[in-house]
Amino acid sequence: GDLVGLDSLVANTAYLKALGMDRDKLRMQRVSFTLPKPRKSSASWAAAEKTYESLCERQPIGRKLFQQFLRTAEPQCAAAAEFLEELNDWGFAEDGPKEKAKQRILSRFCQPQAPTFLSYLTTEDVRTCMALSDVNDEAAMGRMREATREFLRGRPFSEYLRSPFFCRFLQWKECERQKITDRYFYEFRTLGRGGFGEVCAVQVKHTGQMYACKKLDKKRLKKKGGERLALTEKQILEKVDSAFVVNLAYAYQSKTHLCLVMNLMSGGDLRFHIYELGERGIRMERVVYYAAQMVSGILHLHSMDIVYRDMKPENVLLDGKGQCRLSDLGLAVELPKGKMVCQRAGTTGYMAPEVLKQEYYRTSVDWWALGCSIYEMVAGRLPFKDFREKVQNSEVTRRTLEDDCKFEGKHFDGPTKDLINHLLRRKVAFRLGCRKDDDPRTHTFFKSINFHRLEGGLVEPPWVPKPNVVYTKDSEDFRDNSEIKDVKLDAKDEKFFKEFSTGAVSVRWQSEMIDSGVFDDMNNLEVNGHGHESVWT
Ligand code: ADP
Ligand code: MG
Ligand code: MG
Repeated sequence: GDLVGLDSLVANTAYLKALGMDRDKLRMQRVSFTLPKPRKSSASWAAAEKTYESLCERQPIGRKLFQQFLRTAEPQCAAAAEFLEELNDWGFAEDGPKEKAKQRILSRFCQPQAPTFLSYLTTEDVRTCMALSDVNDEAAMGRMREATREFLRGRPFSEYLRSPFFCRFLQWKECERQKITDRYFYEFRTLGRGGFGEVCAVQVKHTGQMYACKKLDKKRLKKKGGERLALTEKQILEKVDSAFVVNLAYAYQSKTHLCLVMNLMSGGDLRFHIYELGERGIRMERVVYYAAQMVSGILHLHSMDIVYRDMKPENVLLDGKGQCRLSDLGLAVELPKGKMVCQRAGTTGYMAPEVLKQEYYRTSVDWWALGCSIYEMVAGRLPFKDFREKVQNSEVTRRTLEDDCKFEGKHFDGPTKDLINHLLRRKVAFRLGCRKDDDPRTHTFFKSINFHRLEGGLVEPPWVPKPNVVYTKDSEDFRDNSEIKDVKLDAKDEKFFKEFSTGAVSVRWQSEMIDSGVFDDMNNLEVNGHGHESVWT
């Protein structure tokens, strides 16, 4: 009725308004907080992983504070910090600017008469760098980077640990480890529904950062025996750090739900784009771009011995800029070293022959499913199942095992057909992505994509979601009032819920503080105010 329509409208408006807030607006509305005093316990926490790599490189706030420290330290330290920054820019630059950046680096840091000369470089290092030719750029720069890290890891690092900058770091750490509850977020409309509950948009009160929160109903989980799955999904998500897979920012529990807080993908899933927006299918330029990001995501998971097992357009989500990530890692599995698995897992229409035949398999199944997904983006149907076709699973299985993949319609060009044919090879040994030393990224289908720049988020998306559109069904369509009655939660369940609820994921949380501007705002306060009291004992 009308009231329902009105509810949806109100829900959409609040959500879009929150999404569209700019930084200044957010700054005004943020719930402010102060950093706690560092405690002995946080010192002992930090001591446990007191490595240069973790404290000064991997953790974003740690990296920032270390750089700030370097800039106030002796000139060699400041020069090293500047060098690392320029090296980073050089790494992502395109041909022309890249050459310029290289020359600048050489003249500033490799010339003994320059004021920012890195004096810890050996004469050998300097000689190789000055004799650079394009072929060994990477190697020579890598060598300088290593020499710089070697230098920083020494005295600068130990001085940093005794500086007020590190004291400030421990305060942030204290804050990062706070208990997370529902009250940490504002909640907005439902974006989707899964097997154990809904996914809704949320916003962190302190920073204004928007996220998606996947809520798993505790009783439903127990009733359907989904606890192990939920924990696996959480553990894999928190381990993966890729621009092409959704990231986990928080894992916490409420009275009734386990919650996974992830990147908000406001552009909708690719299934929605194939079937619900105008003509079926997606235009070729976009297919190439999304497929390139899907390949990168799959390769990232495989490099960690993780098989995704649920590759399909429905699980590929677009963010507000139009870049996509793999999501829903509920079926993903970590391969035991050198072993294979044989469990039947996946979605009808995307399952590889080796899964259907219940054979042992490794990462090959994801390449097959990618072939099906690319086919689907182009054709608006699956290779072995037509659009809206009512057909038994056994028939889809038969076709997958016996029929050839047909390419009908004008949409398939030569490279696309070739790519799909190589991904849909029934014999794993012949399938693209599974043969020794082959790399799907080098296929002509991807000739327009610079994967290195794609990785750095520097390739312009071919299509950008409109800021005033919600790319999913009405929130009312996700409503589910069914209640699980006949399930009682006991002490064992509580123990499991606790294991799941680890709070903020360190790297994500720190990035959130920096990206939202909260870190800079707080650091405008006097850093030196805390003096030199050592928290190490
Ligand atoms: P399930 O594992 O139960 O299938 P999903 O993780 O696939 O649950 O989430 C269910 C639905 O919620 C998805 O199909 C998608 O529409 C929506 N959704 C999931 N994650 C996000 C996200 N990070 N951002 C926006 N929407 C999401
Ligand atoms: Mg799903
Ligand atoms: Mg799932």
